[in-house]
Amino acid sequence: MFEQTIVLLGSATDFAVVCQACESRGLGFGEEQPSLVRGKLGVGHDLAWTECERGHRIRAVRAGRDVHVEMTSPLW
Ligand SMILES: [Zn+2]
Repeated sequence: MFEQTIVLLGSATDFAVVCQACESRGLGFGEEQPSLVRGKLGVGHDLAWTECERGHRIRAVRAGRDVHVEMTSPLW
């Protein structure tokens, strides 16, 4: 099992990612929602954990203020 990390940008609070651990093993293939994991990271929080339905842990972190926003979002 390997650790996964996703990075949220700006003020994003909801995320949905495909579990890479499941995907790499071919799990979820052919299902309606292949290994999709949803989670929340509250405003003001910099770190959150979630799990896919098969128990793989996924860490969500918020990008710091020093992120080069001009490279990551056209909305700023
Ligand atoms: Zn998984």
